[in-house]
Amino acid sequence: MFTFTRKKLVALGAVVAVYLTAMILLAAPIEQMYWNIRYFVAPNSAPPSNIIVVSVDPATDLPDRFADQDAKILTALRIAGAQTVYLDHNIRLGSPALSAELARWGGRAFLVARFDKLATATYNSFGQVTPPDPRLVNPSQVVLSGFSSNFWKHVELSRCNFVYHGRSYTSFGNHLADSPCRDGDLRPNFSIDPNSIPYLSSTDVMGAHADKDLAGKTVIVSSLSNRTNERAGYFGHGQKPPVFFDIAAAKGARNTPFYVGWIEIVLALFLLTIAISINVGQTGLRRTLYGLAVGLAVFGPVICENLGYLQSPGTTFVAMIMFGTWRIWRRWRLKVMETGHSGLPNFVALASRKVPAGSVIVVAVIGRYDEFLATLPKDLHGECARQIARRFSVGCETGEIFHGEGGHFAWVEGDRETEDQLAHYEGMRALFSAPLLVGGHMFDTNVHFGIDRNSQLDTLTRVNTALASASEALSSGKTLQQFEAKRLANAAWELSLLARIDEGMRNGDIWLAYQPQWEYSEGRISGAEALIRWNDPVRGSIRPDEFILQAERAGRIDALTYWVLENAINAAEAFNVFGPRFQVSINLSAQLVDKPALVSVTEEIVRRRGIDCTLLTVEVTETASVYNRPAAIRNLQQLRAMGFRLSIDDFGTGEASLCYLSDLPSDELKLDRRFVSRIVAHDRDRHIVSSTINLAHALGQVVVAEGIEDMATFDMLRRMGCDIGQGYYIGRPETFEQLRARYMAIGNGRGKAFTTC
Ligand code: C2E
Ligand code: MG
Ligand code: MG
Repeated sequence: MFTFTRKKLVALGAVVAVYLTAMILLAAPIEQMYWNIRYFVAPNSAPPSNIIVVSVDPATDLPDRFADQDAKILTALRIAGAQTVYLDHNIRLGSPALSAELARWGGRAFLVARFDKLATATYNSFGQVTPPDPRLVNPSQVVLSGFSSNFWKHVELSRCNFVYHGRSYTSFGNHLADSPCRDGDLRPNFSIDPNSIPYLSSTDVMGAHADKDLAGKTVIVSSLSNRTNERAGYFGHGQKPPVFFDIAAAKGARNTPFYVGWIEIVLALFLLTIAISINVGQTGLRRTLYGLAVGLAVFGPVICENLGYLQSPGTTFVAMIMFGTWRIWRRWRLKVMETGHSGLPNFVALASRKVPAGSVIVVAVIGRYDEFLATLPKDLHGECARQIARRFSVGCETGEIFHGEGGHFAWVEGDRETEDQLAHYEGMRALFSAPLLVGGHMFDTNVHFGIDRNSQLDTLTRVNTALASASEALSSGKTLQQFEAKRLANAAWELSLLARIDEGMRNGDIWLAYQPQWEYSEGRISGAEALIRWNDPVRGSIRPDEFILQAERAGRIDALTYWVLENAINAAEAFNVFGPRFQVSINLSAQLVDKPALVSVTEEIVRRRGIDCTLLTVEVTETASVYNRPAAIRNLQQLRAMGFRLSIDDFGTGEASLCYLSDLPSDELKLDRRFVSRIVAHDRDRHIVSSTINLAHALGQVVVAEGIEDMATFDMLRRMGCDIGQGYYIGRPETFEQLRARYMAIGNGRGKAFTTC
């Protein structure tokens, strides 16, 4: 149900405020512009055919004109056969000649008195009238003229009649009309082009050309004043003298304008456009209907005008502009917040939501999604995503599924007990056991989930962490990976890892420890494994497997490995100077083992250093996670061809240990300490180790046992025929100087095993 939250109320208030402000600021200018354009573009009505304006010569056009001059004009008009005459002057002082002439017209001559505020009159206030000299005419021969105007001093309305000092006068325009209106407002018909109204000058009328076609005509004798204070705006035609408004009013007097309320129009158009936008799915049809609505807004007032109604277009336009702006904004938002081909809301949309406390954000990733899409025609991509979203929505009981890039889908759901969680996602995984069928193409899918349960974090961070967890679940093949908040704290540190590693290698925070290896047959220390160490001034000592993983992720493991190689060469050179053969082992990351540059860079280093490569052993482990296995094997073969010894580290762990033995061109096999440490106490491990030693020997491998922590294990391995031992019992990893000092002290590694633990 829709509830009014404070936020929604504020938003509603803001919308209303913007709307009202827009109405106040925009409606009137739009209306002004609308009528100006409308009458400029289509001045289509002819002026009343029987009206002629006689303009009084500017030379005689003075406020207190000579009434005799008017008398002469009237005489000329009467002789020419004019039917009716209107003297559109402010005649304050008559003259005997004018009185006599008016009498001769026998009630067919009228005097026009104008309100004094033509351009500023408001709807109810028309100012003062200067009444004509009462000796000239009786009141029934006086007509009043007055107009109300808008902010821009454009005339808008007149009246059918005016009541002035208790007496009703017909308005000039209404008096001129063929079918006068009885009462109320009178809107001039501005579609009459004022320039098309026929006029003659008073000189012409009185002069030799008096045979103008004046017979039977209604003549208005008026000063077409140039004085700006007597002019006003005529829609579509700039400033015009007042007489033009009266003539336009004569044409508009057919009936009193009936106002069509703007609220009804605005509402109707609003409802129409909203109904269109919600209900009409077909773009073509929707556009046609929008076109109709706009057409109605544009031509509605003109149609109304022709039917004798008056409709203000300004408010309708403001409503339409606001609606259009809102639609454009919404479309833009959707564009930003939707995934293009599926039309589903995207992760930006999810990140902008407020997620209820206690909910989890779930990101599901579809394995090999990009491969599906590559085999599907482009127009089916959206259907594929929607089908996947439908399956998720069945399983997670939430209506809204968000679609990110690369086969990622997300939603928000209630939290569960940890025990139920895995079962829930296994259940959702089962929804995908049936293949997807998209447009005749069938796909098997596998799904992995990443979740974030940290309600205290903001939504954007949570979406990103759930995303990272889903990627981790995908790469590790797990159903579910949950984001651990601890990792977030590490994120900043991890992001600056490159610089830190470089710095650490330079300033000695990163260094190599050497753990000695004991050769049983010779009874001496015959080598050492180089193990990397990092004492960060801020984080203290960082375990190698931890930062090596980060360095691998950050693509920095190559620089680190070559640095280890350089240092291991130093150590090998140093030990081999003062004693019998001393072997140094280094560890090679699975991330590096298949890289094309590995061999060339290593070759460059050993050539530069001039080292005998047979003194160096390269330990490899976890080759199962190597991306390009054939390239890895090729690289290892080439390193071996250069003289490096090759050792399979942590033998016995991982899935493919026996495969390594058959695939890798190795010289040495290092038994993992998990077996070695248990051989004294556990028969099974003892058998595993002893038979592995035999197997390795049969394959010509040297066997190294790591993790020897006590004398019993040390001795048992000797009895089993193990070639080399490594472990705390023999010696812990220590600095090069420490190892060298002790090595020298016991006579080049000979004598009793190091028992320093
Ligand atoms: P690893 O290559 O198997 O190294 C042997 C690990 O066992 C070392 O741990 C060593 O300190 C530990 N160890 C040796 N003797 C004993 C013992 O008697 N008891 C016990 N409990 N542990 C013993 P460390 O130094 O922590 O190294 C961990 C792993 O980090 C290494 O395992 C290796 O995989 C990796 N690593 C170390 N240095 C490098 C390096 O320079 N490059 C690469 N790529 N990996 C390295
Ligand atoms: Mg190792
Ligand atoms: Mg190992």
